[in-house]
Amino acid sequence: MAKIFCVANQKGGVGKTTTAVNLAAGLAKIGQRVLMVDLDPQGNATMGSGVDKRKLQHTVYDVLLESASIAEARVVSERLKEAGCSYDILGANRDLAGAEVELVAVDRRETRLKEALAKVDGEYDFILIDCPPALSLLTLNGLCAAHGVIVPMQCEYFALEGLSDLVNTIKQVHANLNRDLEIIGLLRVMFDPRITLQQQVSEQLKSHFGDKVFNTVIPRNVRLAEAPSYGLPGLAFDPGARGSQSFVEFANEMVERLGGARPGTGARPAAK
Ligand code: ADP
Ligand code: MG
Repeated sequence: MAKIFCVANQKGGVGKTTTAVNLAAGLAKIGQRVLMVDLDPQGNATMGSGVDKRKLQHTVYDVLLESASIAEARVVSERLKEAGCSYDILGANRDLAGAEVELVAVDRRETRLKEALAKVDGEYDFILIDCPPALSLLTLNGLCAAHGVIVPMQCEYFALEGLSDLVNTIKQVHANLNRDLEIIGLLRVMFDPRITLQQQVSEQLKSHFGDKVFNTVIPRNVRLAEAPSYGLPGLAFDPGARGSQSFVEFANEMVERLGGARPGTGARPAAK
């Protein structure tokens, strides 16, 4: 059964999507079978995986509204295949913004994604969910479906303050909806060691959260920022870049932390 992780932080522009697509690519590169679920109506993770969000026949919207299954809606990206780090993608586009409203009126509204994932989780080692920048019903679907949350954060002055809302939400979901849910770890991203404040906040994070802070640090790296405009994760766009390498390191740390998720066999599920 797959390990299911949300990449979440209610702030926008903190590196959620960059983390989701590059971790997916990194895990794929070391032989793990990965499904990436784009839960953000902006569809950045979809486009950033080489999939045109405007051309999708089905998206995660159809899955949430139960008009398509994940097996019907997932796609693969030829460009990721060429780069040797292919993962399956359950894409999103603007349709998903409507789901927020439409879901309010339906039953089992927080657990739609969880139920849909249960039908395919035997086909993957990891399922990564890229959440929107809000603690919304969409994010709630992600949190209800997941075993854990990966929180990317920049080491800035308000970082800890912003974290408390997310931590409280995770506690509430844990208490009321999903006893499995835990924070897997905080990932320091866009890190610049030359900036003293970032070093200080990084130390603060470690003393506050201990081993919940991942050892891997993702540096600020221009190749990671350029990659989305080429429709690829940095790791596929420029595998040698420092930022890309840090995500391979992060993928390995994730596998190690989980106490040896199954070693990759190279076998992949067939997406339609
Ligand atoms: P979110 O999904 O949280 O809104 P993104 O992953 O889209 O955040 O990142 C926000 C912006 O920062 C994007 O333009 C992205 O390319 C850039 N970015 C993210 N991580 C890095 C990094 N490590 N180095 C440089 N730029 C980055
Ligand atoms: Mg995003």
